[in-house]
Formats: sequence, structure tokens, C-alpha cells
Amino acid sequence: MKDGMVRLAIPDIQVDSIVDGEGIRSVIWFQGCGHKCFNCQNPETWDFNAGVLVDIETMKNKIRELEFQQGVTFSGGDPLYQLDAFIELAKEVHNCNMDVWVYTGFTYEEIMKLAKKNSKFIEALEQIDVLVDGPFIEKLKSFDVKFRGSSNQRIIDIPKSLKENKIILIEKYK
Ligand code: SF4
Repeated sequence: MKDGMVRLAIPDIQVDSIVDGEGIRSVIWFQGCGHKCFNCQNPETWDFNAGVLVDIETMKNKIRELEFQQGVTFSGGDPLYQLDAFIELAKEVHNCNMDVWVYTGFTYEEIMKLAKKNSKFIEALEQIDVLVDGPFIEKLKSFDVKFRGSSNQRIIDIPKSLKENKIILIEKYK
């Protein structure tokens, strides 16, 4: 990835979502995903060369301009394929006193394994308040699990999980 750039599916921030996490949120849609879940809802976001390259500073300005949003959700695609860009943008979200949710096809355990070879994964986790983890699994598809597509996906409190060195789920979404 070119330095200072992020590849997005939509070169803008979607505002006022109530389905991508707690509260009224904005969503940044990353381009590129290698998980290839069967019956994924956004297969057009898989291609790592598609989408639009956007200047990170431009996105940071857009984050600073957000109003009346509880936080920003990073979705896609999978934001954890662009660690540098994600870390920079998530830091800006926190600087603006908003929280960070991330949807990833990696499980928490896989991320911890990847982090042994690449510490940027830990840096990324340190910028995440809530992680919705794991691939979408068609046979576990459920409308009863809030903010998720399938029941294998977990809604994880990342600051607590890092502190206690084990997965801590957010109680109300268990
Ligand atoms: S992780 Fe998400 S975007 Fe990627 S293939 Fe699975 S459902 Fe689709």
C-alpha cells in the first residue's frame, strides 16, 4: 500500500448508522478481504486492487468533522489487512473522543497468533474498543444475534481482553 493512503470501498464516511454497532455511528468501509466467506454480503469488497485509494489526511479531516456520532465502525472488506492506515485513522477517532468498533473475518485467537510475527496487530488491537470477530458462516446465519451475521461471531471488549489476557465478551450481546 502506498504510504499515507488507504484503499476504501467507498471514499467517504457513512454517517448515522444504527446497525453497525452501539449508538449512532459512522462507518468507514475498507476495500480488500481474503476470507472469502460463502454468501458474504459484500463480495465486491474482496478485491485488494479495487475500490479507491484515498489520502489518510483527507479521511482524518472527515473524522474531525463528524458530529453527534458515538463512534466510528471500521468494516469492509477487512480493515485488518491495512494495519497502518487503520491504526492512524482509529487514533484520530479516539482523539475526537469517539469509540472504535471493528468488523474482521479473523478470530481473536488468529489475531493473537499473527501478532507474534507482526506487532502491528497488537498496535491495532490497542486502538479497538469493540471487535466483532470471525468469518460469516452461512449455516450459523442468525437474525437473533445483534450486530452480527452469524452466531459464531463474537462481540469482544478488547481493552478488558488485553488486560486480562483472555477473551472478554460484552455481557449484553452474549
Ligand atoms: S470477512 Fe466479511 S467481508 Fe470478508 S468475506 Fe467474510 S463476510 Fe465478506
